[in-house]
Amino acid sequence: MSTDYKFEGWLGKDKQCAQGQMEWGEFEPKTWEEHDVDIKVECCGVCGSDVHTLSSGWEETPYRHEIIGRAVRVGTEVENIKVGDRVGVGAQAGSCLKADCSECSNGLEAYCMGIGSTNTYGSIYPNDMGKSYGGYSTYNRTHSHFVFKIPDGLESADAAPMLCAGATVYSPLKQNGCGPGMKVGIVGVGGLGHFAVLFAKALGADEVVGISRKAGKKGDVLRLGADRYIATDDDKDWATSGARSLDLIISTVSSEDIPLDGYLGLLKVRGTYIQVGLPDGGKLPLVSAFLLIDNAIKIGGSAIGSPGEIEEMLQFAVDKNIKPWVEKRPMEDANQAIVDLQAGKPRYRYVLVNEA
Ligand code: NAP
Ligand code: ZN
Ligand code: ZN
Repeated sequence: MSTDYKFEGWLGKDKQCAQGQMEWGEFEPKTWEEHDVDIKVECCGVCGSDVHTLSSGWEETPYRHEIIGRAVRVGTEVENIKVGDRVGVGAQAGSCLKADCSECSNGLEAYCMGIGSTNTYGSIYPNDMGKSYGGYSTYNRTHSHFVFKIPDGLESADAAPMLCAGATVYSPLKQNGCGPGMKVGIVGVGGLGHFAVLFAKALGADEVVGISRKAGKKGDVLRLGADRYIATDDDKDWATSGARSLDLIISTVSSEDIPLDGYLGLLKVRGTYIQVGLPDGGKLPLVSAFLLIDNAIKIGGSAIGSPGEIEEMLQFAVDKNIKPWVEKRPMEDANQAIVDLQAGKPRYRYVLVNEA
């Protein structure tokens, strides 16, 4: 069946596209299957990962995730969504979903071994089913397992960035016991980091510490709910004065050039450091083995959030009245939004909005 609506969106055709040169155009969504949902896009968050993907030089790299909209077509096999529902899609649009996949059958779809995770943007579906084109667009088509009903208590522009940025920090905070009795540091206060401050506080951590480069974000970060602020470029002796003060650190920083030993030294004995920011080159700095051993420190990582965690997070956000700081911009501004994101300008997440 063909549709009476057109799939159009911002397309990245070469490496220059991240410098404000995406082009608007029509695209062919993945081949329709009866477990799919077509979504008329209302808005879409602008994530740091969008920049990595756009500047990677993938041909016809298409954009993006953190989508909210209305379900306009729902396959006969779909059980969780009805036409007209307000729905969302995060960074993941597919995985094998087989009963014999130890990850998919245990709520770990983000780590699927079967076919891996298919991204909402810039991925090629298995079996020649086409490409994923993300949400800087008019419509999006995604497997219903990765489409979430948005609770009424959440505004669309607030819910959109939760689906990737929010889930990516909610998951490791929960998995590593963030709550009463814990002191938690958040490194890098951008889109992900500002959600991490909000969620760590709402989860009841005893102390939440925003760890940023410059002193300039201090007021914002304390207003977000942090109890303490460290500016690694501007505070002298931050590493020694804060040594052994935290149980858990979530790092959203995407640079290879970070004072990692300094961050690790902030952890108490048996503390845990979780990396979620993805440096372009994919590597972190070398770490001192003495530091790890002398403090019994664990280093780990975490990928997005799986569907079960995303549903839990959305309800948690309603229950705790989580209010992210988003700046809405018209969908036409996608190119400038990507440029401004790289300049560190959002406070703290841009959300592109389609006119009604
Ligand atoms: P963002 O809004 O640009 O925030 C990144 C923050 O990192 C900045 O606000 C800045 O914080 C800090 N930073 C940037 N450059 C730095 C540098 N050279 N040295 C030290 N700190 C630096 O981006 P985002 O959307 O939050 O995404 C953050 C990262 O997470 C990206 O790499 C993205 O690809 C990745 N990500 C990973 C997953 C996952 O599944 N693990 C999911 C989504 C996104 P301060 O100004 O406070 O220093
Ligand atoms: Zn993202
Ligand atoms: Zn799987």
